[in-house]
Amino acid sequence: MSCLFCRIIAKEIPSRIVYEDGHVLAFEDLTPQAPVHILVVPKKHISTTLDIQEGDNELIGRMFRAANAIAKEKGIAERGFRTVMNCNREAGQTVFHIHLHLLGGRAMHWPPG
Ligand code: AMP
Ligand code: ZN
Repeated sequence: MSCLFCRIIAKEIPSRIVYEDGHVLAFEDLTPQAPVHILVVPKKHISTTLDIQEGDNELIGRMFRAANAIAKEKGIAERGFRTVMNCNREAGQTVFHIHLHLLGGRAMHWPPG
């Protein structure tokens, strides 16, 4: 298995897990860009957002609901947070297993650059 996040999901590579259920895993980003920077990933391998199929609709909802629960637990829900999914090269995607960045704990800039 070569996919980094599949290996994290399989616990072959350690991570700092903050949430897990049967469909979704969330762990701390190795290089945090904000005081709170969590990655929410589906346990199913999906390479990019372009590969999301109709059958994944529920799974994508689960990712956002996990992000909401983590934001509340971390105390950033009311003040605000950002969720981001980068797709392909120009967006800066480096790991080709979709992941929802949950960023918060500081003011976010717009446009994101
Ligand atoms: P992206 O650039 O959107 O593909 O995001 C990939 C993210 O994965 C980056 O924010 C990296 O810091 C993060 N990352 C890479 N390797 C690891 C790892 N082993 N554990 C946790 N986060 C990682
Ligand atoms: Zn994968």
